[in-house]
Amino acid sequence: MVSPNTDLSYDSKIEGNVVPTTLDSAINWIRNNSMWPMPMGLACCAIELMASGGSRFDIARFGAEVMRFSPRQADCMIVAGTVTYKMAPQVRRIYDQMAAPKWVIAMGACASTGGMYRSYATLQGVDRIIPVDVYVSGCPPRPEALLDALLKLQKKVGQERSASRLLTA
Ligand code: SF4
Repeated sequence: MVSPNTDLSYDSKIEGNVVPTTLDSAINWIRNNSMWPMPMGLACCAIELMASGGSRFDIARFGAEVMRFSPRQADCMIVAGTVTYKMAPQVRRIYDQMAAPKWVIAMGACASTGGMYRSYATLQGVDRIIPVDVYVSGCPPRPEALLDALLKLQKKVGQERSASRLLTA
């Protein structure tokens, strides 16, 4: 029998619990279900980020509840809030200290574009200093929007050529 999931298949003729798959699929499955976010809470959006960890929204359902406050233990930076020029070097430094592979979610209008702050003090989008994988619109975005971004990120990671990158690293 062949599973409709093209990443995994099961052959009943093989004795025991054997599931053939590709190395990419296995690595990506592991990474997708064990993302450890680095909560970069800079302003009001961070309150919504905190709410996503509560029982009402329960980010644990997606394997991403282990918020790490050490960049070396995190692989998914969630930039939640207004990035000022004063904070920008710190955001970049923390991103640099995160272990690879790493991903970034820009949560909210401020982190994505500067939002309503068209001022000399505000960075007009965190993608000016670090690469962003998923942008979340809204001011503030609700926790459901962050969970949707997480699902989008998991879909993106699921398509990465992880095995070949590991072998050439
Ligand atoms: S997008 Fe809105 S809620 Fe989020 S940090 Fe900016 S002003 Fe605050």
